[in-house]
Amino acid sequence: MHALTGAYSLDAIEGRQLARFERHLRRCRDCTDEVRGFTATAAMLGLAVATPPPAELASGDRVGVTVEPAGGTSRPPTTPIVVLTVPA
Ligand SMILES: [Zn+2]
Repeated sequence: MHALTGAYSLDAIEGRQLARFERHLRRCRDCTDEVRGFTATAAMLGLAVATPPPAELASGDRVGVTVEPAGGTSRPPTTPIVVLTVPA
């Protein structure tokens, strides 16, 4: 039952499976919390706005992306830093 939280959050289950999951949901706090999180995320995605790409991308010029370890090479990698390089 626990694996259905994502599908339930997206209204992707129905019938007997939906009824069984909703019964499970009434007594499972983990699934309730997970459904709440998925539902909030789905709502935010629904509010996302598409924006046109920068002119450099629209013109077909290449854009480079590299991922470097945070703090350079002298320290062990932690959170990587993404460097976006756009041609001048
Ligand atoms: Zn559960």
